[in-house]
Amino acid sequence: VNVEGCIFCKILSKDIPSETVYEHGNVFAFLDNRPINRGHTLIIHKHHHEDIFDTPEEDLKEMMVAAKHISIAVRMAMKADGINIGMNNKPAAGQAVMHAHLHVIPRFEKDGLKHWPGKNYSPEELKIDAELIKKEL
Ligand SMILES: [Zn+2]
Repeated sequence: VNVEGCIFCKILSKDIPSETVYEHGNVFAFLDNRPINRGHTLIIHKHHHEDIFDTPEEDLKEMMVAAKHISIAVRMAMKADGINIGMNNKPAAGQAVMHAHLHVIPRFEKDGLKHWPGKNYSPEELKIDAELIKKEL
């Protein structure tokens, strides 16, 4: 199901070219055109969903299984020391294309990227947060 104006749907329909690295069933993967490191790959499902919140579990499973295969290949091909898998959901989290996608990012010991800065909260605050989240599950 192609959604009008969606860049990733246009990549799927070949209206926009991409460096495809993987296509299996309903999962498609291609190189990010602004990679964090070379080999940075994006994984999408052929069904247009905006983000994790509206993607059915079955489709997420297919994407994550592909992420495993692609991580192995990217690690070998790029001789990476590690791999980050990420998913930005909603603009506040950095999502730029509103077609759900996973990032597979090869990492190197000295690639200059920093770990996310952690903040310090008290054990009591963490307990409150855990309770709030558990109530929603
Ligand atoms: Zn789309």
